[in-house]
Amino acid sequence: MLIDSHCHLTSAGLYERVDDVLHRAAEAGVLECITIATGLDDAKRALELSDSKPNVHVVAGIHPHEAEKVGKRWDEELKTVVAQPDVYALGEMGLDYHYDFSDRASQAAVFRRQLEIATDVRKPVVIHCREAHDDVMRTLHEFPLLVNVVFHCFTGARREAEEILAAGYWLSLTGVVTFKKSAKLREVAKMLPADRIMVETDSPYLSPEPVRSMRPNEPANVVHTAACIARERGISIEEFAALATANTRRFFSLPCDVARRRP
Ligand SMILES: [Zn+2]
Ligand SMILES: [Zn+2]
Repeated sequence: MLIDSHCHLTSAGLYERVDDVLHRAAEAGVLECITIATGLDDAKRALELSDSKPNVHVVAGIHPHEAEKVGKRWDEELKTVVAQPDVYALGEMGLDYHYDFSDRASQAAVFRRQLEIATDVRKPVVIHCREAHDDVMRTLHEFPLLVNVVFHCFTGARREAEEILAAGYWLSLTGVVTFKKSAKLREVAKMLPADRIMVETDSPYLSPEPVRSMRPNEPANVVHTAACIARERGISIEEFAALATANTRRFFSLPCDVARRRP
């Protein structure tokens, strides 16, 4: 059994047929999904979804792409959202200097404010970091009381992975690790400590090999990413799935009886 630790079930392409998507996930052994809401409206939708699906858990925050568009009292609203018991973490948040869809000052301000809130509510943090490693690390170091921090869709260099681990943070890998050109990332996947690694699809994006052309990507496909990492680490897929699942449960403090409650 596996958990997709990061997907966007409320995104176009998945949301309209979410029952099918979750059914296919369950058939592939992916019994739980953590859906990431990238803004306040998205969070409402994600919470509605998790209300009817006990195996869907919510993470809510302001994506750096959305940082420029937040309203005046966005932080008060976010506090209310993340106080709900089915919101297990804040995010994805961080800095994206690759796309720069929001100006960097807004990205930095919204990132910092969310880290303050995460510290206050004592919930974990999911980081989105693109070509901004040093600035993200510097910012995080201002918040030493954060509960747990994961760099989602890690695709960086070994040096960056080592810095993240040394700071006590976690890494999560997507289908990018399965791509032919990702030999260096597979090296990173091999050396990550067994208790600090998670897997995700980031669906509807980033379909892994051997289904890379599939659009949209969906949670069932996390099995391909898990198989690739297991192969690199020289362990069975079952063994890797067990450790990744245990890690995800521990990182997010997920309830442990959800899969069993499910018919
Ligand atoms: Zn992201
Ligand atoms: Zn994402």
